[in-house]
Amino acid sequence: MTTSITLSDLYQRQITLIGEEAFEKIRNSRILVIGAGGLGCPALQYLASSGVGEIGILDFDNVSASNLQRQILFEIDDIGRKKVEVAAEKLKKLAPFCEYRIYPGRLDEINANEVISQFDVILDCTDNFYTKFLIHDTCFKNAKVLIQASVYQFEGQLQLFDFRHRLGPCLRCLWPLEPLDGCTATCAEAGVMGPLLGVIGSMQAMEALKLIIGKEHINNGETLFVDLMSREFDVRRFQQLKDCSCCVKQEQRHREILQVDLPLKLDEFVIVDVRSLEESDQCSFITKLKEQYTVLQIPLEKMDDFVLTKNQKYLTVCARGLRSLKACHFLRSQGLEVYSLRGGTQHILNMENV
Ligand SMILES: [Zn+2]
Repeated sequence: MTTSITLSDLYQRQITLIGEEAFEKIRNSRILVIGAGGLGCPALQYLASSGVGEIGILDFDNVSASNLQRQILFEIDDIGRKKVEVAAEKLKKLAPFCEYRIYPGRLDEINANEVISQFDVILDCTDNFYTKFLIHDTCFKNAKVLIQASVYQFEGQLQLFDFRHRLGPCLRCLWPLEPLDGCTATCAEAGVMGPLLGVIGSMQAMEALKLIIGKEHINNGETLFVDLMSREFDVRRFQQLKDCSCCVKQEQRHREILQVDLPLKLDEFVIVDVRSLEESDQCSFITKLKEQYTVLQIPLEKMDDFVLTKNQKYLTVCARGLRSLKACHFLRSQGLEVYSLRGGTQHILNMENV
């Protein structure tokens, strides 16, 4: 029976709403869920049942009786088994067309980069400050999208940090001093209701899907507060800290590494002009480059639609070097070797006129 089921049988209702092209984006996405607990279980179920192409599940823990009240992938017979293994087993039955990669262990400073760099969007479904900040900082470093959530009794919070262009505000703008674990009560101490985790975990999945298909979502500098007791939903905004140790200082250091100046051995690069087609057609510097080198014209806002090969070095170019830096971050998050021309073509033309 199950062998005859097709993708279209499973996903037609969703395709009717978002269209084939958006569904294809979901099929091509790679999402990592860190923590297969109260938030992770509903998030995983909805990501898998929406057709996400590749799902990573990371958790160190085994199923226990006290989990079952809210961790809806698990049953009494699963008690004592590894959560990641049970979760993958259940999800395969629900969504056999997805690929599952399981990581049975804790995320730490040694493995964080390697695991997180393999996915596009990361869902933080953990419940301690140390891991939350580790995930956050690693996502910033690797230019990934992070969707973070936490709950306390009847309330939940949700944040989405799109670090593909390595721009703030970030979590460290909100918490310049990292809170220590133990300063707030855990779920075990304060208690928690299952449906709240269902709501917030499902919202993490929904924000991830909206981001992937290019729909409006919560963004950097916004926190969505949900209080299921008073039935209030509220978005509160926060500003970037001028001297933030992450999104300001790390970005400055990183920018220095990514930006390069002429003269360069340009024949070693594929040049990518990220301005609008009209702008680049009018640029005498680019016209000159085209005579000797490979130049691609990919406007920044269309970057998502192109797949560039990995066995090449790229140099992104724009008028002043800002859009090209954004493109550079974006392409680096796809695993490409890319540099941005500092100061852009304007700087080169000004030099030539001196
Ligand atoms: Zn920051």
